[in-house]
Amino acid sequence: MADVHNFEYWQAKAAELQPNGQAWVNGKSCAAVNGDTFAKHSPIDSRLLAHVASCDQADADATVRVARAVLDRGDWSRKAPAQRKRVMQAFADLIEAHREELALLECLDMGKPIADALTVDVNGTLRCIRWCAEAIDKIYDELAPTPDNEIGMITREPSGVVAAIVPWNFPMTMASWKIGPALATGNSVILKPSEKSPLTAIRLAQLATEAGIPDGVFNVLPGFGHTVGKALALHMDVDTLVFTGSTKIAKQLMVYAGESNMKRVWTEAGGKSPNIVFADAPDLDAAAEAAASAICYNMGEVCTAGSRLLVEASIADTFMAKVRAHVGNWRPGNPLDPNTNVGAIVDEQQMNQVLGFIEKGKAEGGRLTAGGKRAEVVKDGFFIEPTVFEGITNDMTIAQEEIFGPVLSVITFKDEADALRIANDTIYGLAAAIWTGNLGKAHRMAKGVRAGSVWVNHYDGGDMTAPFGGFKQSGNGRDKSMHAFDKYTELKATWIKLD
Ligand code: NAD
Ligand code: MN
Repeated sequence: MADVHNFEYWQAKAAELQPNGQAWVNGKSCAAVNGDTFAKHSPIDSRLLAHVASCDQADADATVRVARAVLDRGDWSRKAPAQRKRVMQAFADLIEAHREELALLECLDMGKPIADALTVDVNGTLRCIRWCAEAIDKIYDELAPTPDNEIGMITREPSGVVAAIVPWNFPMTMASWKIGPALATGNSVILKPSEKSPLTAIRLAQLATEAGIPDGVFNVLPGFGHTVGKALALHMDVDTLVFTGSTKIAKQLMVYAGESNMKRVWTEAGGKSPNIVFADAPDLDAAAEAAASAICYNMGEVCTAGSRLLVEASIADTFMAKVRAHVGNWRPGNPLDPNTNVGAIVDEQQMNQVLGFIEKGKAEGGRLTAGGKRAEVVKDGFFIEPTVFEGITNDMTIAQEEIFGPVLSVITFKDEADALRIANDTIYGLAAAIWTGNLGKAHRMAKGVRAGSVWVNHYDGGDMTAPFGGFKQSGNGRDKSMHAFDKYTELKATWIKLD
């Protein structure tokens, strides 16, 4: 029977899908002002998915004007909270109703396994939009403590026009982490998806409009970073710029803000997260299984990937045998097959970059103990075998640079102090995991590690209820939770004399 658990079901659906690659501005599909398009192919088999609008400065200018006008009219920004909530709930309902289509678009566009797209990406997006919607009519402003004849009001206002520039690894989820709180707080949004994965962003905006988000409040401008991305980042009438992507571009966006209007810049950038396994971990089998999924899940294209596995030297041999066995369960396959757990790398360029890091790891003396090659899975597709390097020291290139692929660097340590020193010897500070049964050690390590998320005795926990973001060069500000709302609002102090 053809259903979601069936390869043929998804192949047939993929064959008839006709993705829309147009921009979405003021509640309507449109071509780029200059008429340009670029061809978007799938990394699964290089099939053509769509001709996508290649927006630039002219689109940025026109769309910022639209977004500003709707903000000034108050169609969304001044709508009663309960009404905004109802519209966003309807938006979430439409995402749910289109879950298969959205998952399929994500799978074809960036190559992730269809099963993950359905369960993780669609569900994560849904949960984010629902959570933000639900929060809208539960946020109160503040009154300052004042003498009897004065009132000090502390209120939050929408920041204004928000530009959101997002990456290709979790296209829909990363977009939702920005648009959820941005829309909930009444802003107008211009979303710039990655040129490598523009399709779900466009579809989300269509659904938002269908749900009743007023025209001009949620716009999507597909195109390249150096064209439309840069134009938005330099724009004099964009109030806030939010970003997820590489540290290199995050830094560039801060320069653009300084060169233009001092727009607020909030970035979620790279990571090189340490996954630290002590000999006294309560369950070394669970730790080994998690170590494998922390680098194989989503083909390692995860900002919080556990790309540095730090293992206490006394258990290294037995523990690594377990890790290698688990890595063996992660096998590249056709992403449209619901049984596949390792999909395609997003494109040929990224695949070659990852293969280059693998060569570098070998050249610097790493011991390759799993994978290490391109995998031949589907003709004209881009796949890489999950790869493990042992005998790595933390100063090697593959221990320092974000690879964004399924390449694990294994480093041994001798004691707690050594583990902490190695963990923090990185420009990044996004996440860390600590495996130990010793309560004191767990807390000492959790405090000592300079990272925005710390997981104890598991990897990659959290929910919409907890803030997410980085220390150091992993970025600033936080996505998720009520803390995310800070990025999309300005605080105003209104002091009133009563006599
Ligand atoms: P990137 O940082 O170059 O791109 C992210 C987004 O920024 C995209 O939408 C892109 O179009 C846009 N952009 C690029 N240049 C810009 C500019 N000058 N002005 C405005 N916007 C611009 O990431 P990438 O090229 O897609 O991937 C490169 C590397 O970045 C990866 O190998 C990986 O290491 C890292 N990366 C990290 C994350 C993360 O979540 N931490 C996500 C994606 C990529
Ligand atoms: Mn780039």
